Amino acid sequence: MLPKGHKLPDSFYASKKVVTPLGLGLQKIDACENDCMLFWKDDEDLQKCKICHHPRFKPRKLGGKKKHKSIPFKQLSYLPLTPRLQRLYTSQTTAEHMRWHKEDPGEEGKLCHPRDGEAWKHFDCS
Ligand SMILES: [Zn+2]
Repeated sequence: MLPKGHKLPDSFYASKKVVTPLGLGLQKIDACENDCMLFWKDDEDLQKCKICHHPRFKPRKLGGKKKHKSIPFKQLSYLPLTPRLQRLYTSQTTAEHMRWHKEDPGEEGKLCHPRDGEAWKHFDCS
């Protein structure tokens, strides 16, 4: 999956240890098994779905001595966009690539990219 010459360790867990502090980790959000809702923001502490009343977590086996973490029926993996965009703007080179569509004048009368279209220009005005 990684390009040749990469410097990340071969082990998945070792690689994850390097990548996570960069802010590129993913966020896990519990979801209703029937896809009704997410247990997120105001609903973060709910134990049942507000719509279909399906329990959030799988039932635990009784009698175990260790206290196990509750396992949700379903989880959503979310890659937060804002820190990724912020990282792209921290480097001068990549920031330039992020702004080219605004700074490059383009050819008059030619539609080469969506930024040349009326909709994009209208979006830039607002
Ligand atoms: Zn539900």
